[in-house]
Amino acid sequence: MSANPFRKKSRSVVAPRVVSEFLLSASGPEQFPKEEYPEIAFLGRSNVGKSSLINALVGQKGLAYTSNRPGCTQSINFYRVDGVYSFVDLPGYGYARVPEEVKIAWKKLIESYLVEREALQLSVLVLDARRGWMDTDLELQRWLENHQKPYVVVATKMDKVKNQSEMARSVASLRKGADEPMLCSATTGRGVREIWQAITKTRRQ
Ligand code: GDP
Repeated sequence: MSANPFRKKSRSVVAPRVVSEFLLSASGPEQFPKEEYPEIAFLGRSNVGKSSLINALVGQKGLAYTSNRPGCTQSINFYRVDGVYSFVDLPGYGYARVPEEVKIAWKKLIESYLVEREALQLSVLVLDARRGWMDTDLELQRWLENHQKPYVVVATKMDKVKNQSEMARSVASLRKGADEPMLCSATTGRGVREIWQAITKTRRQ
């Protein structure tokens, strides 16, 4: 077992398959699993590509449930990764077409996880590379800063940024936030190595 799958001397840009399994899905704090492993939480707007990113990181296509229907994940999904970490897929926020009370309930669930979870080691804030920072992302980033929660910012779907002018626009809009995001793509595996490095670095601190 290794804390960083890239230590296994792979030349591939896509993570070597990491032994991972779905643990459970929780719709409230009482259903959270025991805090046995350091947890890496994935946060982002609905449909931004969190589940696909988790699958790319573990090199296992069907581990996290991906969908092109925004707003379907309403619970927190826990995955055991390499017998070393738990990856935690939090419900996507900022989906316009759900009633206000549902949005409030999701926000409460996300915050209850982020506030109470002692095992939380790192949050990965996922942005869509083509859209850059949206208000809800900036709000969450401020929240993480105010609560002194360690986090990294990742801009995914970089493979969809096709030409130089789109790239220039995308990079400029991504730089608006306080932190420069790591650029990645679940489709090509770009950035997967860097995200693993960020995860293992936090573990050593
Ligand atoms: P989540 O709701 O944030 O978990 O988003 P999903 O991982 O389910 O992805 C939403 C949609 O975006 C799906 O149709 C994915 O196939 C697609 N998607 C996610 N990541 C990428 C990526 O890096 N590149 C491309 N081209 N599509 C992606």
